[in-house]
Amino acid sequence: MVVSNLNKINKDSPLEQFQGILKEAIQKLNYSDEVYNLLMEPLRFLEVRIPVRMDNGETKIFTGYRSQHNDAVGPTKGGIRFHPDVTADEVKALSGWMSLKCGLTSLPYGGGKGGVICDPRSMSLGELERLSRGYVRAISQLVGPTKDIPAPDVYTNSQIMAWMMDEYSEIREFESPSFITGKPVALGGSLGRETATSKGVFYTLELVSKLKQIPINEMKVVIQGFGNVGAFLALELFKHGAKVVGISDVLGGIYDANGLDIPYLLERRDSFGTVTNLYNTTITNSELLEKECDVLIPAAIGGQITSDNVEQVKAKIIIEAANGPTTRKAVIRLQEKGVMVVPDILANSGGVIVSYFEWCQNNQGYYWSEKLVEDRLKEKIEESFHEVNDTANKYKVDMKLGAYMVGVRRLAIASKLRSWVK
Ligand code: GLU
Repeated sequence: MVVSNLNKINKDSPLEQFQGILKEAIQKLNYSDEVYNLLMEPLRFLEVRIPVRMDNGETKIFTGYRSQHNDAVGPTKGGIRFHPDVTADEVKALSGWMSLKCGLTSLPYGGGKGGVICDPRSMSLGELERLSRGYVRAISQLVGPTKDIPAPDVYTNSQIMAWMMDEYSEIREFESPSFITGKPVALGGSLGRETATSKGVFYTLELVSKLKQIPINEMKVVIQGFGNVGAFLALELFKHGAKVVGISDVLGGIYDANGLDIPYLLERRDSFGTVTNLYNTTITNSELLEKECDVLIPAAIGGQITSDNVEQVKAKIIIEAANGPTTRKAVIRLQEKGVMVVPDILANSGGVIVSYFEWCQNNQGYYWSEKLVEDRLKEKIEESFHEVNDTANKYKVDMKLGAYMVGVRRLAIASKLRSWVK
């Protein structure tokens, strides 16, 4: 029997977004209800409360989550975000997207994700360290190098990974570098991991540029978000002669039709990617999305392009560098308007691909050159892009649905081989 009742799903929450497209993909592939029922929610979900001694001497209790979506293919894998807007629903959806991301890039993992409700921008380094260590203590039974391997995500970085690795090694009483990826190079991190997501987005754009026959150095690009992904991507594009005409951070955006001075902005941004505070005239984040450009790259958080603003979007191509920035309804409308949308689980997979390389290097104790990392990353992105594009053409569906179909295929096969579902 094939699943039905697509329309019942309200597309607004991230988990419902995930479930809606998952259901479409499973229907297209003629998989059973059992496959959908298995994958619509994570297999395991942990909620923890973390007491942290703050600098003023008081103890604050933080809430955190770890979601393990599916481990039929292998251990679960995915980042940890520190953000005030983290919710259980979002962490569950993000872990599902990680499963699909690992599926479509053929990594031997299922999806995982973690999150802590906090605002790192208003915390001291000491408070952040205590929170990071507390989170690892709280989830330590559930994670490990062959169980579930965390990594950075929104507002977490290599220093936080270092504290987490150190805490885990203390608990386990041996060095465990492969417990977590995105570490500093001096602690077993991989060369090229810091720029991996942005490089992956760039390689994706190169493939789109060939397909659409628009050379990169003739593109006008707007990037929402100037964090790890947005800022390094802006630099890569700038180096290749593209005009980055707009960028934004949490405070707002800046736009210049002649192109922004990206190296200058990169030099001036703080560790949270804030740079627009240097400018007197800024625009809002929503105004930025509506600016004239060839390529729009949302590289911040989810739910940015929706039915409310889709008519105002002027870009010809959208590359989803963030997770879940465009709602399903908006993608369908963009498709009607002739806008190409390259989906998140493909476009931003560079991060987890190089995390996988880092994990392999840790397990082998043999470290690769940056060139080898980048060559293999490019190869993986190209293979995945072509597979998604071919699937979308074959089934006459948009690239988002095509990506879900490729992503879910390996999960379904592995789950069937284990006799979890028919
Ligand atoms: N947080 C990143 C993502 O959403 C990277 C995950 C990883 O490296 O495991 O893909």
